[in-house]
Amino acid sequence: MKYISTRDDRTERGFSEILLEGLAPDGGLYLPVAYPKVDAATLERWRALSYADLAFEILSLYIDDIPAADLKRLVSSTYTEAVFGTPQIVPIRALEPGVWLEALSNGPTLAFKDMAMQLLGALFEYELARRGQTLNILGATSGDTGSAAEYAMRGKRGVNVFMLSPHGRMSPFQQAQMFSLQDANIHNIAVEGVFDDCQDIVKAVSADLEFKRNYRIGTVNSINWARMLAQVVYYFAGYFQATAHNAQKVSFAVPSGNFGNICAGHVARMMGLPIERLVLATNENDVLDEFFRTGTYRVRRSAETFETSSPSMDISKASNFERFVFDLLGRDGARTAELFGPALARDGGFSITAEERARIGSFGFVSGRSTHADRLATIRDAWARFGTLIDTHTADGLKVAREHLQPGVPMLVLETALPAKFAATIHEALGREPERPAALRDIESLPKRFTVMPVDASRVKDYIVQHVTA
Ligand SMILES: *Cc1c(COP(=O)(O)O)cnc(C)c1O
Repeated sequence: MKYISTRDDRTERGFSEILLEGLAPDGGLYLPVAYPKVDAATLERWRALSYADLAFEILSLYIDDIPAADLKRLVSSTYTEAVFGTPQIVPIRALEPGVWLEALSNGPTLAFKDMAMQLLGALFEYELARRGQTLNILGATSGDTGSAAEYAMRGKRGVNVFMLSPHGRMSPFQQAQMFSLQDANIHNIAVEGVFDDCQDIVKAVSADLEFKRNYRIGTVNSINWARMLAQVVYYFAGYFQATAHNAQKVSFAVPSGNFGNICAGHVARMMGLPIERLVLATNENDVLDEFFRTGTYRVRRSAETFETSSPSMDISKASNFERFVFDLLGRDGARTAELFGPALARDGGFSITAEERARIGSFGFVSGRSTHADRLATIRDAWARFGTLIDTHTADGLKVAREHLQPGVPMLVLETALPAKFAATIHEALGREPERPAALRDIESLPKRFTVMPVDASRVKDYIVQHVTA
């Protein structure tokens, strides 16, 4: 399998070439030259596989430059009961008739980003060893992504992580999750500023191309193709659990921010997984809901980006969205380049034509939005009627899922985080604290390892220079 950019550059690259990359050189995102199609017999055979074996089968369709035995070993050591808590890895549980929750958040950091990041850690370590290289991952986080990256990369040979976070602004739980890591290759830098300051420092350091090259600076952001690919697997795994045979269709409801998770659902559907609808749920930051309702994509300014109680969906633009638009436009790279390049820069957005809009339905997408009041009501309702405690992001998904139910089509709502991560809103909804997994009960009392720094990119560079292992 080869990969191309969503923009003008038609260069075909192998998986290992793009594994450690973010954007393509022309500013586009990588996609396979074509989606492999899964026929009925293959689907039937996959039904019986364990999660790790299923992941191996799916990844093998996209990765042909890692020997099969190596890939199998990497996948099998990633998707284990020890790491994800259950033998099914992504168990589904019934809510109301026809509605299921698919648990994606039983990994080490209690959010679905572990599903992909854990595999990425294994793939990075493997590929870096193969090349005899090292990589220094520099990132900024306000919570979920940073901790998922650190838990995936801890103790991995050839990789250091330098993670910036706003000093004193994460929840005590999130802080403890990250700062209690004692691994020598994990560096927590608490910046005396807000999240945007952290992100600006990452940009400033990465813009120094000489520094970036000399110190082998890389990222693990959500546009990485390998992350997307890892997420395709749980759409298949959810489908097999909710159906008895392949004539059945299901729909998925996905709490969305950067369009990474649901884009993996789009890929699964393009491969032939019988998905009826992909239900996209946003919170008050409704860039994507607006697009699917109106055909206009309008990036928000920071003053228009709200801080909500489903914070991992608080985005002003959706960094993976270009992948879907490329497919929607019949893979017209020149037009995609115009829309996401000059049009976005000039107008802060774009509109697709009525004819293009009419095609959205054939990709299965529908959408809706959810507010803080909706979240509280949905959390209360799920607790009162089913005794099921859900987190705020999953509540957004469930709220919008209910607006798109169809008779005879099971709806799988992706559970993207555990309620323990968002205790304050659970308390607001129910007047009680969510339970924590036993292993994390006293996490706040563990010794912490972090360095406080002013908002100063040169100080961060100095720190990196002093701490990279040769
Ligand atoms: C990141 C995240 C999301 C949004 O996922 P995207 O792939 O950015 O659409 C939703 N819920 C939780 C808990 C997350 O951490």
